[in-house]
Amino acid sequence: MKIVGMKLGLLSAPLRVPFRTALREVKYVDDIVVEFYASDGTVGRGEAPPTAAVTGETLGSIQAALQGHIFPSLCDKEASLESLCAIVEHSIVGNHSAKAAAEIALWDIYAQHCSLPLYKLLGGEDHTIVTDLTISVNEPDIMAKDTVDAIGRGFETLKIKVGENPELDIERLRAVRSAAPDAVLRIDANQAWTPRQAVRILERMDAEGLNIELVEQPVKARDLNGLKFVTDNSPVPVMADESMFSPEDALNIMQRHAADYVNIKLMKCGGISNALRIASAAEVYGVECMIGCMLEAKVSVTAAVHLACAKNIITRIDLDGPALCSEDPVVGGATFDGKYITANQAPGLGITEIHGLRYI
Ligand code: MG
Repeated sequence: MKIVGMKLGLLSAPLRVPFRTALREVKYVDDIVVEFYASDGTVGRGEAPPTAAVTGETLGSIQAALQGHIFPSLCDKEASLESLCAIVEHSIVGNHSAKAAAEIALWDIYAQHCSLPLYKLLGGEDHTIVTDLTISVNEPDIMAKDTVDAIGRGFETLKIKVGENPELDIERLRAVRSAAPDAVLRIDANQAWTPRQAVRILERMDAEGLNIELVEQPVKARDLNGLKFVTDNSPVPVMADESMFSPEDALNIMQRHAADYVNIKLMKCGGISNALRIASAAEVYGVECMIGCMLEAKVSVTAAVHLACAKNIITRIDLDGPALCSEDPVVGGATFDGKYITANQAPGLGITEIHGLRYI
């Protein structure tokens, strides 16, 4: 396989409601799409969102990494998929989302060469998964209304962003819980708490009978001791998200049992190859995984859908990026129908066109 050309485009899709977490507020999905052209004319696509608050990457840095480092390293080299992915990994330090976009495009081309949808190439059989939906941080009555709306759209598992203010968080969760008594509720603090504060808040939530399935990233990303403290002492199971980027991070967390679960995101780990390595480590340690996404449109989320279909250790799906958008400019790829996501049967990612893509 040989890559001979690359185009970058800006994809913009409006969100149904502004997306708020403890770290940021966003109104649009604004991502870079990479198109790689193979020597036989096959086009592969990938996508990277600027998530400066988590990965440190911006639209400018993603563009510069792809144009200045990743593509020049790959261009005109006849090599296996594995070798090309290794070239991407070593083309520049960091820049995980830019690498993920490039890697997804390479896997897309390879799967098309094999005439297989990506999940089959990865050894999967089932091609439908069920995702949760994130309810944005807001006043409790607005969150209750958003919850009723989500349940009406068929979602059974809701993710609630917390971390701004513990008292208000509990009020918000009460509002969501009473609007959806049977829903599975998971919460995500996005690093907002200290370890002791996290245990106190989670104990209160537990005592109030809010019935929280798990808490994502209660403490600072680099505070693994703190993460382990919460895991050891909280009544609510803990999932590592921002603490786990690489397969090395995953092993470290799993060996120390610093978290009960981990959240794999292609944009943190740098693509499908590292996601597969994390999933393999999780299989060894028996740590169930969630697959998540940033505010991404359907190109890279389709890759995550295929990965989730292929790996049984991925038991929780948080791929609501496209469901949060009010328009879908991507033709082909996975199909989103309420809580159900179905992987395409067409080869690769099955994406044929992206409307309104502005080439840069
Ligand atoms: Mg998270």
